[in-house]
Amino acid sequence: MLSETNDPWLLTPGPLTTSLSIKQAMLHDWGSRDAAFIEMTARVRNRLVDLLGGGDDHVCVPLQGSGTFVVEAAIATMLPRDGKLLVLINGAYGQRMVKICDYLGRASVTLETPEDVPSDVAALDALLQRDASITHVAAVHCETTSGILNPISEIAACVKKHGRSLLIDSMSAFGALPLDAATVPFDAVVASSNKCIEGVPGIGFAVFRKSALERCQGNSHSLSLDLYDQWQGLEGNGQWRFTPPTHVLAAFDQALKEHEEEGGVEGRGGRYSANCRALIDGMKKMGFAPLLSDNLQAPIIVTFHMPADPAFDFEDFYRRVGEKGFLLYPGKLTVAPTFRIGCIGRLGVEQIHAALEAIQDVVKTMGVSELGPRR
Ligand SMILES: *Cc1c(COP(=O)(O)O)cnc(C)c1O
Repeated sequence: MLSETNDPWLLTPGPLTTSLSIKQAMLHDWGSRDAAFIEMTARVRNRLVDLLGGGDDHVCVPLQGSGTFVVEAAIATMLPRDGKLLVLINGAYGQRMVKICDYLGRASVTLETPEDVPSDVAALDALLQRDASITHVAAVHCETTSGILNPISEIAACVKKHGRSLLIDSMSAFGALPLDAATVPFDAVVASSNKCIEGVPGIGFAVFRKSALERCQGNSHSLSLDLYDQWQGLEGNGQWRFTPPTHVLAAFDQALKEHEEEGGVEGRGGRYSANCRALIDGMKKMGFAPLLSDNLQAPIIVTFHMPADPAFDFEDFYRRVGEKGFLLYPGKLTVAPTFRIGCIGRLGVEQIHAALEAIQDVVKTMGVSELGPRR
């Protein structure tokens, strides 16, 4: 079963399967300094602030590149050279933020939980109490490494209580899981065009509390990654400082329109939750074991244990399921050998059921009988 453009369905954390109308939105050329494109930029920026209930005291700064570019840019822009970032880690994306600090020469400390355990808010509270030199905290909303949902409201309340600045990496949750500036106080949220908004890859963005961004002039070591300067440019003439990904923005604009038509965060999150439920139920019925219990699982991507059966070879499994029209995703956990299946992108339970059928056929052909985890 293939998509309407005869491509395999992407059961990955992004880039994702996009709608035909989003792909078609790219069949034009725009002048980057022309009024139509300036208007499109403003529309997209405003919509992204709206999605967080941000209002006039928040502002969106888009940046060329993948999600990591905007994570790096946000850290560089927010942290003064003598700042210190506490990173809450339970997967690869938290680890990556520490690596970014090392590159940037910013001090960092970490608070780590295993990949299948949410960030520990009591430990965060104690550490912020103890270490007055920590100026900023970074948290990952949904850690895509496992698909775990971190307690972002509790983290935000704790950081606020201690008067520190919070950066939320909501890359794989933005647009599908609720996040409201009124109830979850943050200084910045970062995400990208190609995850739950279902655009194509090429744009990251940060939504800042304006009063926090106003204090960031001169922090960044990098001109192209300076989100303060990018903001000043946009506020000045509505234009991007350097060549914008025009087609990507047009697709993102269309994707935001379709997100709204689907019922916004509630509608999008509802469809993903139904996908996730169908996926987990179907995989469990076959005998596969998910890594996370339901209460920890975000409806974004699901991690499954590698089956115990020696006849199960992931490379072969991946190739065969791919030939049937579904691209799965390898695991990158350290706690256990796993693989992942995404439930986001322009697809519904019909595609999930077809994927389950394909998986069932493949394990049968491979002669795999024991689908439970290695013990
Ligand atoms: C996708 C993702 C990123 C950014 O990854 P890129 O490959 O640079 O787009 C960052 N954090 C999380 C949690 C993600 O899921």
